[in-house]
Amino acid sequence: MTVAAPITQDVMTIPRTLPEGGLMNLVGLTREGMREALIAAGTPERQAKMRVGQVWQWVYHWGVRDFAQMTNLAKDYRTLLAEHFTIQLPEVVTRQVSNDGTRKYLVRIAGGHEVEVVYIPEENRGTLCVSSQVGCTLTCSFCHTGTQKLVRNLTAGEIIGQVMLARDDLGEWPVAGAPKDETRLLSNVVLMGMGEPLYNFENVRDAMKIAMDPEGIALSRRRITLSTSGVVPEIARTAVEIGCQLAVSFHATTDEVRDRLVPINKKWPIAELLDALRDYPGVSNSERITFEYVMLKGVNDTDEDARRLVRLIRGIPAKINLIPFNEWPGAPYHRSDQARIQAFADIIYKAGYASPIRTPRGEDIMAACGQLKSATERVRKSRAQIAAETGVTP
Ligand code: SAH
Ligand code: SF4
Repeated sequence: MTVAAPITQDVMTIPRTLPEGGLMNLVGLTREGMREALIAAGTPERQAKMRVGQVWQWVYHWGVRDFAQMTNLAKDYRTLLAEHFTIQLPEVVTRQVSNDGTRKYLVRIAGGHEVEVVYIPEENRGTLCVSSQVGCTLTCSFCHTGTQKLVRNLTAGEIIGQVMLARDDLGEWPVAGAPKDETRLLSNVVLMGMGEPLYNFENVRDAMKIAMDPEGIALSRRRITLSTSGVVPEIARTAVEIGCQLAVSFHATTDEVRDRLVPINKKWPIAELLDALRDYPGVSNSERITFEYVMLKGVNDTDEDARRLVRLIRGIPAKINLIPFNEWPGAPYHRSDQARIQAFADIIYKAGYASPIRTPRGEDIMAACGQLKSATERVRKSRAQIAAETGVTP
């Protein structure tokens, strides 16, 4: 294992709950946080556990936003809650629906910042792609989000709020008295939107704990996947404190190329990343690590790359997800040809690994991987800046 280097970054962090007209937002508090908040508001300590259980169910199981609807609480107590708290989600500014059914929401959070959230319906499941930061401090040269200058960590409430607003839009909160419906429109969550989730660890963890809580949204940890560009010191913690599935933006088979594509590689190169993945607790054949690999024409897509990839990951239960590069205005790369992607996939498949090629979804509304970026913050880094950071001349 590598010795954990301190993670320093210059990201604006705001209070974990947003006082709204002096009221505290309950959305995003952990059970412990909610307990403390209810006690501070006057709930007797001996009742606190029961009250948390009741309020939690209203907010996360039933999707209720109004204390008046919490009918198993005494009227006086509902009034007390309304005097101290709100149940507030980020505001949906625009909602676009692609001709393939993908939905993209532009969402406004405190401070007027905006992030994008994407819902991808498939035959047997529906996946919500959630953002963890406004922009990203990292500058992967093929990623649109990485060109956005302004970065701020989302609060836990803003992260779980994305799941809740998608459930609102899908009409997926249960209806009292109706037969229980086990099929879910929103069945999976991937932390693959804007931002590097492991640079906002605590908020991502708390939000995912809320998503997994059996008394609420109750998503299985197997249906939540966190994608990281390779923040090595936080990987072991992800297994222990969140327990979700892990995906890694691998994208290259030599440090020389990976340094250019995923600059965090200069800090934690391929060998260190692979060590951390080998040690990822709980990895077994049934729970494989997903290696994401963006297919860039003439950059990382040769047969030799495919063979090297197979050699590198030997011994790690893995699946390789090949992502045809999604173009964005001014992008310095092109997508590999279909035949090249197929040949690359075949080599990996023959070596015994699943090698699905990801079908781009929602391209017509710029909702595909790596295309997300807030409309209000489309100020691009200059070409010179991209070149300096990546060694690639756009
Ligand atoms: N910051 C995290 C999660 C968000 S990115 C990470 O990097 O893993 C989600 C996935 O989309 C990553 O694998 C990322 O490398 C990939 N991606 C970024 N830009 C892309 C593009 N233009 N085309 C295809 N995939 C892209
Ligand atoms: Fe950030 Fe991920 Fe984009 Fe890299 S690929 S710039 S880590 S969002």
